[in-house]
Amino acid sequence: MRLKFLGATGTVTGSKYLLIIDNQKILVDCGLFQGQKELRLRNWNPLPISPSNLDKIVLTHAHIDHSGFLPLLVKNGFTGPIYATQATCDLCAILLPDSGFLQEEEAKRANQYGYSKHHPALPLYSKADAERSLEQFKPVEFGKAYWFGNETTFTWHHAGHILGSAFIQVQTGQQRILFSGDLGRPHDPVMRSPAIMQNTDYLILESTYGDRLHDKADPIEQIKTIVNETYARHGTLVIPAFAVGRAQALLYYLYQLKTLKLIPDLPIYLDSPMAIDATQLLLSYPTEHQLPPSMCVKVCHTAIYTNTQEQSKAIIENEHSKIIISASGMATGGRILHHLKAYAPDPRNTILFTGFQAAGTRGARILAGESTIKIHGEMVPVRAQIKYLTNTSAHADYAETLLWLRQFNHPPRKIFITHGEPAAALALKEHIETELKIPCVIPNYLDEVSL
Ligand SMILES: [Zn+2]
Repeated sequence: MRLKFLGATGTVTGSKYLLIIDNQKILVDCGLFQGQKELRLRNWNPLPISPSNLDKIVLTHAHIDHSGFLPLLVKNGFTGPIYATQATCDLCAILLPDSGFLQEEEAKRANQYGYSKHHPALPLYSKADAERSLEQFKPVEFGKAYWFGNETTFTWHHAGHILGSAFIQVQTGQQRILFSGDLGRPHDPVMRSPAIMQNTDYLILESTYGDRLHDKADPIEQIKTIVNETYARHGTLVIPAFAVGRAQALLYYLYQLKTLKLIPDLPIYLDSPMAIDATQLLLSYPTEHQLPPSMCVKVCHTAIYTNTQEQSKAIIENEHSKIIISASGMATGGRILHHLKAYAPDPRNTILFTGFQAAGTRGARILAGESTIKIHGEMVPVRAQIKYLTNTSAHADYAETLLWLRQFNHPPRKIFITHGEPAAALALKEHIETELKIPCVIPNYLDEVSL
């Protein structure tokens, strides 16, 4: 068995691992590189294997940094099956066409304002390409071993990160290899806990928060204070949120605060068609989260859904205090950009980040205190209050990761640490080697190992 690291090395994006078992070539995750330009340019590099020579693709979950490269592979000749859990299939049907649409829009704008080096600027793939890729999805069930030939089985186990998220366990002959995908948290208020795994020979482990502990602060208290302070300034609270996962957690917190009358009865807008669709999916997968059905309905109805662009524009025209949850979570695209343009220049407003901000994204720049940011080729001053919720992440921190690793009956022989900025990956390696005595390797982009 050979494993080649085609992404998520030195970065949290672009997850892609090529697994070669005998003559079978299987890609585990198929994510888009995001963030810094140098990384995004990698999306244009051909893979070291022609898409038509790949046999299968398997997905841990639907987030774009794990699935967003699929439409390009299909466009370039991949005709095989894409295996993923049912909720991941449903979420990809929401996320991938949107990703294609955003890329078409970005290319259009770049051509209109002349801010691309390429003439004409082209999208990596279109919405139509993304829709075509959906036809190759094959849903799998959690906990069931799928026979992939050559004495090889693949099994999906709950990862507790977002709906449909999974660890993928590969067994081939006597060897086992486990891909963590993104590891969820043991006490998330909405998602179920990650599955306890018994044993594996090798583990490919994410390290997004490998150098950090999540704040113990109660997010409900933090959000309460932020909403009330913003309201007292007659300001608007703008929350860039990942459409899948964070947006739903925020609705849960705001539902609690409103029910307990701890915040004023401000209008809350969920201004992202994707986040709206993803929220509705909570109702379809009651076994994948912890909300009782009656509460789930109420949480889903906490916000006013704004589907059309006219409804979205009308939010900005309304001058009263309000709460706007919009995507994308790192302010790399989507409707949030219009809200940042409208609300970032006014010090009465608050911009509240809720999840990891990859290096180079607008989110990371704003958090770092940059006083102006570029949106659609225009410089926008940032005078609003900038806040960051440290305890609403959907990723385990290093202590939670170690806790999950301690539950193995037979710990892995070796751990490959991926999906983290370099400092985070290194810190997690040191924690694991010191505390659990398991040897760890931090692979580089395009490294290949024989297992
Ligand atoms: Zn994820």
